[in-house]
Amino acid sequence: MEVTKTARMETMPEIAEQPTVELMAITPNAEQVIELACRTCYLSFHRYNPPASTGELIKKVIRKKHHSVLEHAMATFRIKGGSRVFTHELVRHRLMSPSQESQRYVEYGKTREFEIVVPPTAEQAGFKDRYIEMASKCRNLYQEMVDAGTPKEDARYILPNGTTSEIVISANFREYRHIFQVRCNPRAHWEIRRVCLIMLETLKKEAPIVFDDIIIDRETNSATIIES
Ligand SMILES: Cc1cc2nc3c(=O)[nH]c(=O)nc-3n(C[C@H](O)[C@H](O)[C@H](O)COP(=O)(O)OP(=O)(O)OC[C@H]3O[C@@H](n4cnc5c(N)ncnc54)[C@H](O)[C@@H]3O)c2cc1C
Repeated sequence: MEVTKTARMETMPEIAEQPTVELMAITPNAEQVIELACRTCYLSFHRYNPPASTGELIKKVIRKKHHSVLEHAMATFRIKGGSRVFTHELVRHRLMSPSQESQRYVEYGKTREFEIVVPPTAEQAGFKDRYIEMASKCRNLYQEMVDAGTPKEDARYILPNGTTSEIVISANFREYRHIFQVRCNPRAHWEIRRVCLIMLETLKKEAPIVFDDIIIDRETNSATIIES
């Protein structure tokens, strides 16, 4: 019994370095779908002449805030290595659909490893070792409780906010533009900003016209919408 306890005390958490953001699915020919939907309003299909017409029309509807046409295209991302702090902020977006790993069903040390995010500011201020030590203690008590028969849904109360959590999100392009506007902003928290910037970079490649006016600033690791 004592040996097991000692071994548990030595169990250190994994440290999540960078989140991984995988584009799982996206509407095929997204910008053409948006243009053709938009042209339905005016029955102006005769003016459909991609790629020139697509750029022109989509930029115009974005400028005029006729944003509902952007709802015809969707994207799904899988995000790993983000903390529960980050996912809690992300899931506040109500027009986005999340599916997140459940701490009621997933058991750390069994279903998956126990992994935490260490905020750079805590590390810079010299708290990294104590931070990891405290997270280890929480993880060990969690394990002891689960081993003693405490349901995972109750043992999880001891786990830190920095615990990582896998999540899949789906949203349409209108909602992604909104999320990027508020979460890539310099005032947003660094972790959600970091993930949203990766999603923005991906969508800029996939749908360059729709996300063209959201400008990334590498110096501040943020992005803002340029109104024209
Ligand atoms: C920098 C920052 C700090 C924050 N701080 C806090 C905080 O301290 N405490 C806190 O509780 N939250 C905080 N939040 C979260 C914030 O209050 C929102 O819950 C979150 O940003 C989701 O934004 P939203 O409602 O605009 O977007 P979404 O839920 O993504 O909705 C998108 C848009 O759809 C429309 N919409 C959605 N639902 C409705 C509805 N029911 N009725 C009418 N229109 C709707 C709105 O136009 C909305 O902007 C913060 C967010 C940011 C970016």
